Amino acid sequence: MTNKLKIGIVGAGIQGISNALFLQKKGYDVTVFDKDEPGSPAASYGNAGHFSPYASLSLNRTDVLADVPAMLLSSTGPLALKWNYVPKMIPWFIKFILNTTKKKMMHTAKNMHQILDLALPAYDELFDEINLDGLVENKGILYIWNEKDLKSRELEIKVRDELGVNQQLVNKHEIHDLEPNIKPFYHAGVYYPYARHARNPKKILLKFFELFLKKGGKFNKCNIENIEFDIEKPTFVTAEKRYSFDKVVIACGAFSKRLTDNLDEKIPLDTERGYHVHFKDCDHLLSRPVIFSNRGFGITPMEQGLRVVGTVEFGGLENPLSKSRIRNLINNAKYMLGDLPEHEDEWLGFRPTLPDFLPVIGPSKNYKNVFYCFGHHHLGWTLGPISGKIVSGMIAQENTNLNLDPYSSKRFS
Ligand SMILES: Cc1cc2nc3c(=O)[nH]c(=O)nc-3n(C[C@H](O)[C@H](O)[C@H](O)COP(=O)(O)OP(=O)(O)OC[C@H]3O[C@@H](n4cnc5c(N)ncnc54)[C@H](O)[C@@H]3O)c2cc1C
Repeated sequence: MTNKLKIGIVGAGIQGISNALFLQKKGYDVTVFDKDEPGSPAASYGNAGHFSPYASLSLNRTDVLADVPAMLLSSTGPLALKWNYVPKMIPWFIKFILNTTKKKMMHTAKNMHQILDLALPAYDELFDEINLDGLVENKGILYIWNEKDLKSRELEIKVRDELGVNQQLVNKHEIHDLEPNIKPFYHAGVYYPYARHARNPKKILLKFFELFLKKGGKFNKCNIENIEFDIEKPTFVTAEKRYSFDKVVIACGAFSKRLTDNLDEKIPLDTERGYHVHFKDCDHLLSRPVIFSNRGFGITPMEQGLRVVGTVEFGGLENPLSKSRIRNLINNAKYMLGDLPEHEDEWLGFRPTLPDFLPVIGPSKNYKNVFYCFGHHHLGWTLGPISGKIVSGMIAQENTNLNLDPYSSKRFS
């Protein structure tokens, strides 16, 4: 099938590349732009590698809000602030608080569930076209906790039951059978048997990128400074050149707001910063990703070793990496697994997050030839292909049974 429309995409993370591949399937002529090489240290490289189709309940919940002061004071907890950024984030925090009512929490959960439920089949459509080389494991994902009545866990389990998510509560013995190397500090857990994990997200992204090039896709390494319009044609503006297209997609994760602000839309996108370190040659210690819920961190067995991932740090895109957050991850990993060798690769990444914890997927409010695909917060790796598939259907003006209104940027007007 050929379709001569030219589409430009800014961002070569999992969202941008997935958009590109699904648009190519419909015959469009696609060019991707990124300021860095694909697979560079963006969020799509450094994430925990979870394919988490069960994770419909997000952080906009009253119980999470109530836990915030204790989490901020705890030296082992997941939450941190860069104080110099707090004044800039106050409008985001206010919107977040307004989104923690039970009604709003359920609105987010239902609409996350709608796309999460389609996430793995959309991945499989792309996996069918590459050689996966053992880069994806189907061994489920395990959450553990050490307090008998941890309220958040009960709420999560209840809401996921209501949404029909397949989950198995596991006791101490079952956790030990699944992961015998974890120290026995836990009381109980939940196991999502159909979840998967990536052994190396960067390699998967690069395989998708090679497929895109093989199918005639073009790539330009440059920073898009602005989007302007030549007549109705959206035009990417760089320091040296202008590139005009019939339609464009903004898929640059946490950086997307820099472009949408110039399109007369005030989308309240900000970032939850997260970290990882690797413990090389230790991946044999775990069979699958394990998340210790009380401390909000997880460990994934990957090609690089054990990848320890965690922290929600509010601090914007410019602040440097916090050494205290790296120490926190190392200590937590040792708490879970005992002695570990010296860590490697201290990485800081940017989750793109809206205060209602729904992504923005769909056309711009003001410009019909500009589409958005960003704001997938903790789930952007899982939701890449399904989001790309949805945007490609919108660009092709296809009918859908999905209710896509909840993801529209119009919700912030
Ligand atoms: C610590 C951590 C752990 C995570 N774990 C998981 C997980 O296990 N499972 C999961 O589903 N999700 C996870 N996530 C979330 C997930 O990684 C992100 O939501 C997802 O990678 C976002 O993808 P993206 O393509 O939107 O953005 P990115 O991966 O950030 O890519 C955006 C790209 O746009 C480019 N760019 C930005 N601005 C410009 C510009 N002006 N011009 C040109 N190029 C530009 C950047 O260089 C970058 O390559 C995690 C995130 C973090 C930080």
